[in-house]
Amino acid sequence: APTLVQRVGAALGRARPPATVHAVSDVSLEIAQGEVLGLVGESGCGKSTLARMAAGIQLASSGQALYRGQPVAVQRGTRVHKSTRQVQMIFQDPYASLNPRHRVERIVGEGAFVHGLIDKPGLRDYVCDCMLRAGIDPAYRLRYPHQFSGGQRQRIGVARALAMQPEFLVCDEAVAALDVSIQAQVLNLFMQLRQDFSLTYLFVSHDLGVVRHLSDRVAVMYLGRLVELAPAEDIFARANHPYTRALLDNMLTLDARRRRFRAIQGEIPSPLDPPSGCAFHPRCPHALPRCKQETPQPQRIAPGHFSACHLNG
Ligand code: SF4
Ligand code: MG
Repeated sequence: APTLVQRVGAALGRARPPATVHAVSDVSLEIAQGEVLGLVGESGCGKSTLARMAAGIQLASSGQALYRGQPVAVQRGTRVHKSTRQVQMIFQDPYASLNPRHRVERIVGEGAFVHGLIDKPGLRDYVCDCMLRAGIDPAYRLRYPHQFSGGQRQRIGVARALAMQPEFLVCDEAVAALDVSIQAQVLNLFMQLRQDFSLTYLFVSHDLGVVRHLSDRVAVMYLGRLVELAPAEDIFARANHPYTRALLDNMLTLDARRRRFRAIQGEIPSPLDPPSGCAFHPRCPHALPRCKQETPQPQRIAPGHFSACHLNG
């Protein structure tokens, strides 16, 4: 069987007149079939943009996302039938992504029906099965989104994605809006589904602690660039990049509610006017003179471990 390769490339532009924000520059990631890639960074670092691009929700000004070597179809408005069915997205705010005027039955079943995965007579059973797998009682299928808790709404989003028989799930801060105890349940659900359906994940979070338990590899972004990429155990045992190390220190010293990365020295610069050279230099405790001038390129420092920092020579 061909290897599933999800490649997300380069130079996304978000037109925001009069300035153009390059949310993501020179980022290229490949995700292997069955892999969970965690993507972390502070808010505004471009990880959501990258996720939306990977899922075909957002178009890039240049660069593209490939799924099994084919461009991921960009979904425009309600033209669900044009999207790449195998790639589905789970959003941070399930409420905003669920049509408040539709019953759960329709929310979960519509895409599968439009894509011809199920016919009208089989639709009800199909929806019930997807709801069960996502951990929601199918007896609630005639309810509306507002009649559910935050955690249940996220499960409805999962059921809707499962109905599309996906192979690749892009999760953007999928548990960030949930209470810590509910977070663990939803993360367990993702891992169960990974096993049951051999799913591949791009799992985006600002929280290294969330990513830790489910990722095979971790990618760290700062101001639109990839600064470190490594097997998860290497990120947590021997992070190389000063930014990654700052995130880790922060994770270890702050409790979950305060874990917002704000403890890292200095403000996050505006992506409209990123610092010269290494964009992290105004906040980096190890900055060298050349860090202000030269942008460090990713270097391989160990098998599968890449870091973009001048300290590596
Ligand atoms: Fe710090 Fe320089 Fe490395 Fe950037 S390149 S992380 S400023 S040492
Ligand atoms: Mg975001």
